[in-house]
Amino acid sequence: MSHSDLHLMVKAIRFAAEKHRHQRRRDIEASPYINHPIAVAAVLSAEAGVEDVSVLCACILHDTIEDTDTTEAELLREFGPAITTLVAECTDDRTLPRAERKALQIAHAAQLSPGARLVKLADKISNLRDILATPPKDWPSAAKEEYFDWASAVIDRIRGSHAGLEASFDSLIARRSEFA
Ligand code: ZN
Repeated sequence: MSHSDLHLMVKAIRFAAEKHRHQRRRDIEASPYINHPIAVAAVLSAEAGVEDVSVLCACILHDTIEDTDTTEAELLREFGPAITTLVAECTDDRTLPRAERKALQIAHAAQLSPGARLVKLADKISNLRDILATPPKDWPSAAKEEYFDWASAVIDRIRGSHAGLEASFDSLIARRSEFA
């Protein structure tokens, strides 16, 4: 990684930490939200060997438009078009009802760029791990089952993107019996 890549990566971490600073995850400990985008980037850098700085920055920033006041124009100004496009690809339209957003993720998955597919795979892997290890405190097993089914439907549309990540994803899906 060049010095300018490192600079961009640190800038993305600082930007996301600031944007998500008042948010918590839904687990019992109400972990800081920023732990999630950092975990997603770690899946790609530590487990998948991804070195593309745009993809790693997109992991860090992937929930900023969807879950904070961040706009696409702001990301474009701060991080340029490559990262902004990746984040936009991974952003659900929050003005739509939840069921429709979930259906659209399945419908749109096949059109994702190669970089966005990596972010999507790492995001789902990270979420499955969290549901298995530190589930949202108000989730019955049926809600976990439903999330696992939906995540499988999304990932099934982008198979052939990264064998190692897909194997990790499948081994997590196989653990659904733990809460059934
Ligand atoms: Zn996410």
